[in-house]
Amino acid sequence: MQEDKSATKIRKMVKKFAEALAKLEKPALISHIGPDGDAIGSQIALYFWFKNRGIEPLMFNDDPVPDNLTWLSGQEKIRRPAKELLDECDAILFIDGNDPLRFGNMAEYFSKTGKPLCLIDHHLDPPEGMFSEMLWDSGASSTAYLVYTLFEETGPEAISKEAAEALYTGIVTDTGSFRFDTVTEATHFAVGNIIKYGGIRPGEIYSRIYDDRTLSEYHLLGTTLKGIRLFCNEKVAVMEVTEKLMSENGCSQNDLEGFVNYPLSIRGVVVSVLFYEREGRVKISLRGKSLVDLNHVARQFDGGGHFNAAGAWHPGPVEKAVKDLIAEISGLLS
Ligand code: 5GP
Ligand code: MN
Repeated sequence: MQEDKSATKIRKMVKKFAEALAKLEKPALISHIGPDGDAIGSQIALYFWFKNRGIEPLMFNDDPVPDNLTWLSGQEKIRRPAKELLDECDAILFIDGNDPLRFGNMAEYFSKTGKPLCLIDHHLDPPEGMFSEMLWDSGASSTAYLVYTLFEETGPEAISKEAAEALYTGIVTDTGSFRFDTVTEATHFAVGNIIKYGGIRPGEIYSRIYDDRTLSEYHLLGTTLKGIRLFCNEKVAVMEVTEKLMSENGCSQNDLEGFVNYPLSIRGVVVSVLFYEREGRVKISLRGKSLVDLNHVARQFDGGGHFNAAGAWHPGPVEKAVKDLIAEISGLLS
């Protein structure tokens, strides 16, 4: 029933948010580093929401669109953030994240600009006082669902094919293909409308997003799964990917997308953790089944996210990161 409560809360919020957005003439739409399907999908859908109203927003991301999403119409308009271009905008909309440090190296610019900062997001604990307008609910299945509510509020017939593809991409990826706890009647109702108004074929979109892997990625996945170790009475699964293993398989970090979800299908496992070497540190990806607050865990290690999906960092080496993280999780499980 989580999203039903949240659906009511969102309805109240979205009206005010839509009115505030309707006053903008040149908004900047920015999403987080290492953008995923929800980041890019929400950003593009919001772009088309504005386009439909005769407004041409500028879209910025520090990192490129992942290869499996470059088919999305509108993604070609996303560029690296630049001060001169941001200066031309009348507001900055933060999409799918609420920590300015997650939006690339412009954090100082955002703190000093004086322009209105708006938030459309479903991550826990947005910083107080930073955003003048928010469409925010941590119970929402995805940021794309929140963008959908904006269309619903102002007229769902404006959901074009392009917007629908982007919305569907955001929702399908952030719900693990409709299998996470955040999925409710409201999620499926939204998807029904997205399919109806956008005239899209979900199977086709699913295939474009997910059936795009290489044989080398599967070899890397095979080796990684073979190395799974179980901790805390076999409730916590741990996997590691070193830079050496990635280069041996001719893979990069983007190719690890989705790996962390696999161990959750092992009987009894309630938390899955993937450790991988990145930029001289260890990046930690956490996924859970509603028993451990992973946002809380990640916050002890320079990260954050949601109750059931979070990301964090450790100075390394990997084995020390595993030891420290397991100590934290086992304290919460017992
Ligand atoms: P992933 O494991 O896919 O990198 O991230 C899972 C979730 O945690 C995402 O919702 C993402 O936004 C969040 N997340 C990942 N890394 C970080 C981080 O370094 N800091 C914060 N605050 N959130 C993160
Ligand atoms: Mn998201």
